[in-house]
Amino acid sequence: MKGNLDLRSLDLKSFIGGFLVALLVFGAFFLAKPQQEVSVVSTTSYLEIRDALKAKLMEEGKYRCCIKEPCSYCLEEGGCDCIDKIMEGRAPCGECIGEILEGNANPYLSDEQISRALSEVKEEM
Ligand SMILES: [Zn+2]
Repeated sequence: MKGNLDLRSLDLKSFIGGFLVALLVFGAFFLAKPQQEVSVVSTTSYLEIRDALKAKLMEEGKYRCCIKEPCSYCLEEGGCDCIDKIMEGRAPCGECIGEILEGNANPYLSDEQISRALSEVKEEM
């Protein structure tokens, strides 16, 4: 009789133990989920911040890019002067070179200016 009672209390202990483990796993799952959502939110706000920063710099005249949709590469530098570089016959940033080669150059630039700047790229390579 006594042995049976011990066994039952043991069962109860393992039941509680199992319950706690399940609670922990469940808790971890719920704790982990919001973190995933946060990372999605921060990706969205990164793009928003990036575009807002670009717009602000453009307003201040510090973002003078040589392609239709201003590059993001020069954002690290705190300003873009790729259009000045092209007008001076120098190579623009890597992103702009790629976009120009895809035919997305700023329509204010002449073909002559662009080909002169891009021939500078080949020389640098
Ligand atoms: Zn650029």
